[in-house]
Amino acid sequence: MLVADHYDRVTEAWRLVMGADFHYGVFGDADWLLPRATERLSELMLAEAAPAPGARVLDVGCGVGGPALWLARHFDGTVHGISISPRGIEAAEANALTAGLADRCTFAVADALDNGEPSAAYDVAWVMESSHLMPDRARLLAECARILRPGGRLVLCDLTFLRPLDLGEILNDRKKLACLDRVFGRAKIGALADYEAQAAAAGLRVASVRDLSRETRPTLWAWQANLERFADDVDALIGPEARADFARACDILGAYWDAGRMGYFLLVADKPG
Ligand code: SAH
Repeated sequence: MLVADHYDRVTEAWRLVMGADFHYGVFGDADWLLPRATERLSELMLAEAAPAPGARVLDVGCGVGGPALWLARHFDGTVHGISISPRGIEAAEANALTAGLADRCTFAVADALDNGEPSAAYDVAWVMESSHLMPDRARLLAECARILRPGGRLVLCDLTFLRPLDLGEILNDRKKLACLDRVFGRAKIGALADYEAQAAAAGLRVASVRDLSRETRPTLWAWQANLERFADDVDALIGPEARADFARACDILGAYWDAGRMGYFLLVADKPG
């Protein structure tokens, strides 16, 4: 299934399971509530992005606009969010209106690999847990580099394989990997070293990489708790089979995390001024 169709199908159910933020949480403690932890990830990204007053941020793969609205409340500038999912963009626009932020938060359906935005027009490229859905990462990073002004900054967080799976593991785990695809959309989770190399090839200078694997782990338990808590509503939206798949996907990811195979990172890179 195409990524856009996938996101159109799951958006409402995900809002119950994940909240307004379609991304992992960074837990200060395992007993933090999920919304606090997902906000913490936005805080870490914002601290790195450090946009000056009046800055323009491009939110690449913006979900239902949760992070964009949060950002608009936490700095004095504008955010333009793009996503390939029309349903996500509709929801984001409605959310911006309700929040009274439609003047500073705008949204459009666009493909991050060819985003149609003007060159050198943004101070920050904000790529929050969407890059794993874009197999042509070199192109994503080239587009981010293009829209940034000289001196602008890319902040990108996502899942990663901490070590490459060998062929045996891929064959062995193919049912598990297929389950992850069904639940989260066809993903290409990358190795950190590849991100760094591709950012450099796009003309960006990597400023820092932070490992958030430990702090993000409790997210998977929080999603499972919400799947149980909102079981009837989630079933009405995507059906019991898809809900069971989601719970299983959390188990699979949790086991990968615990085995040190998968984790989470935040990468910061600058466009030379
Ligand atoms: N950044 C948001 C959403 C993350 S979910 C948040 O943290 O809440 C991943 C998002 O990436 C979805 O909105 C999905 O529609 C979008 N996406 C996936 N592939 C894309 C592409 N090629 N171009 C633009 N957006 C894409």
